[in-house]
Amino acid sequence: MQNPHPFKPVLVPISKITEMGSICAWAGCPRKFKGTMPSGWTWLQVYWSPHVICEPLDRNWTRDGVLCPEHTLKLDAQMKRIPRVAE
Ligand SMILES: [Zn+2]
Repeated sequence: MQNPHPFKPVLVPISKITEMGSICAWAGCPRKFKGTMPSGWTWLQVYWSPHVICEPLDRNWTRDGVLCPEHTLKLDAQMKRIPRVAE
């Protein structure tokens, strides 16, 4: 089966990323930040790998981005409940 998300690597200098900032990956959400990620935001990474770790430029890395606090909670609400490890 063909990968529905063909990988097209694009190398962007870190200075350009810092300058542009990061925008929430949720469709229609305009929230963004520049510099250090504010509290409540999360990284979103989607990839296939036979192991837990995947190289960032691997062609099986299908999606990466950030989610704002509101959409972090919305995504989590769609996931199966898993028991949390007590700290
Ligand atoms: Zn958002």
